[in-house]
Amino acid sequence: MELNAITSGNRMLIDGKAVASEKKEKLIRDIASLRSETGIVPSMRLISVGGDDSSASYIRSKMRYGKKLGVNVELTELGEKTTEEELGKVISGFSADSSTNGIVIEAPLPPHLDHTGIAQRIDPQKDIDCITEINQGKIALNREYMLPATAQAIRTLIELQEPERGSTVTIINRSPVIGRPLALMLLNRDFTVSVCHSRTHDIPKITRESDFIVVGVGKAGFLTPDHVTGNSIVIDAGINYANGKLTGDADFESIKDKVKAITPVPGGVGPVTTACMFENLLKAARAQMKNFVD
Ligand code: NAP
Repeated sequence: MELNAITSGNRMLIDGKAVASEKKEKLIRDIASLRSETGIVPSMRLISVGGDDSSASYIRSKMRYGKKLGVNVELTELGEKTTEEELGKVISGFSADSSTNGIVIEAPLPPHLDHTGIAQRIDPQKDIDCITEINQGKIALNREYMLPATAQAIRTLIELQEPERGSTVTIINRSPVIGRPLALMLLNRDFTVSVCHSRTHDIPKITRESDFIVVGVGKAGFLTPDHVTGNSIVIDAGINYANGKLTGDADFESIKDKVKAITPVPGGVGPVTTACMFENLLKAARAQMKNFVD
């Protein structure tokens, strides 16, 4: 797939929408061939507990996206008082069900449920969110299978800039969905990686020396001109809503003309992440089909 045409009219803007759109076209083709060759329609199961408002729009958008691709995306909604044992049984049931290819436990769960703990009940082959210890461990050992969709989207956007081998990347985030796996995924591709977090001293000094800056702290305006130079390529994973407007973590207006390139929000990491999640579903469906044939 040719994904190099990623800059828009503005030379500085990395166009995540264009990357996502090419990925989507390929997914549509690949899913149609899987269906015509094997009769298999990949099936994703979303499990939501307590119906948190912040996850509702993500659930709806996955369902809409699945429809466009021609895959099944089904939602199981459980009550807020669901116990760990009850949720565990539901997850184990879908893990054992041959018509389910991918399982996602929607965040956030109510506080009495430990998301990472309970997610270990997911069959690693169906773990399209890459939350199981097995799949995260495979990344650490450079034996990648599933990759967390956001981390995969970010690595894709970095690699599309055709960086030199050994290029430096600073990631401001150390969560299991972004920073931790991404650091290892980039090491697996010979990048030179620094990871910053809320206890790191003088982050601007570190980011100014980096070829790439990945930011995902969840604070609008966090990344300022002080963090960047004319050589910086900024990948902004932040999602913030202020006055009904979606923004990233970079103070976009003040740095966009100072850096070499930057992803906008919206239209950067987000749409590529969605496509990567469905690539995981397709990969899981193919892996399970192979097991069945073997
Ligand atoms: P998280 O678990 O809360 O992680 C936030 C990270 O930012 C932590 O590592 C935290 O450090 C660090 N941080 C917070 N304040 C900081 C500061 N002042 N200086 C330096 N580091 C700081 O959140 P997450 O789930 O990883 O998500 C992060 C952001 O990405 C959110 O805006 C989220 O909405 C967004 N996101 C986007 C996508 C996408 O597809 N675009 C997907 C997932 C998440 P500590 O570890 O020290 O606390």
